[in-house]
Amino acid sequence: MSADQQVSRRVAVVTGASAGIGAATARRLAAEGFHVVLGARRVDRCRRVAEEIGGTALPLDVAEPASVRAFCERVPEVHVLVNNAGGALGLEPVAEADEENWRRMWESNVMGTLRMTKALLDRLVASGDGHVVTVTSIAALEVYDGGAGYTAAKHAQSALHRTLRGELLGRPVRFTEICPGMVETEFSLVRFGGDEDRASAVYQGLTPLTAEDVADTIAWAVTRPSHVNIDQIVLKPRDQHSVTRAHRS
Ligand code: NAP
Repeated sequence: MSADQQVSRRVAVVTGASAGIGAATARRLAAEGFHVVLGARRVDRCRRVAEEIGGTALPLDVAEPASVRAFCERVPEVHVLVNNAGGALGLEPVAEADEENWRRMWESNVMGTLRMTKALLDRLVASGDGHVVTVTSIAALEVYDGGAGYTAAKHAQSALHRTLRGELLGRPVRFTEICPGMVETEFSLVRFGGDEDRASAVYQGLTPLTAEDVADTIAWAVTRPSHVNIDQIVLKPRDQHSVTRAHRS
């Protein structure tokens, strides 16, 4: 089934659905009965998930306005938008900030969420029961040394998302912010430019959240009765207290 042909089932758009939390969310929302439209730059990976769940895979780079436009033109109807695309690049202190990394983090996390939400908002409202879920992070709530590029972007993404809750008050659309702590995905591998040792060290000595744990939380928020708005959910591994403090055995 293509997004254009989809009429009967509720439609969920998931950005960054080629890996991690996005792919798990696509699978989980399909299990909840949604027709899922998956978007990411690695569309071949989205296609594999789409084939598995009877969804639709389309190329999407949320950092490129033309790509967002082309993607959204293929989605005539949408009930749920999951703004998940994003991530971190580098861990350098502000004094050594890599401006290109900062720009890319802002483009994917902040401008990507803005572009996708702006493009689909009218259709979400017109559905009569729309829902925007934005995956920010505990990095949207806290700061840590070396993390300013990412925490600044996540704080901004969170501010943008929470502003919409007020601006759309009285319209048939809900807004849920998901703030995960440590989740073992490709996140750290991307952050550290493919350095597997550095990436796996992040999760050593504790049991991190899985992408499925976060997908489960998103699915729960989305499947509440439509008069119930889950504003914000913070979820962390039991052994994680904050961005800087964890118990490791
Ligand atoms: P991941 O496994 O690296 O997945 C990131 C996803 O984002 C990929 O599908 C990637 O797809 C997509 N993406 C990145 N830039 C994009 C762009 N410009 N356009 C379209 N898609 C893009 O990491 P993850 O942990 O699942 O991350 C998902 C979200 O959760 C991110 O927003 C991240 O900040 C947030 N988060 C993660 C953690 C954690 O510990 N893992 C904690 C809190 C919050 P392509 O590369 O194929 O485009």
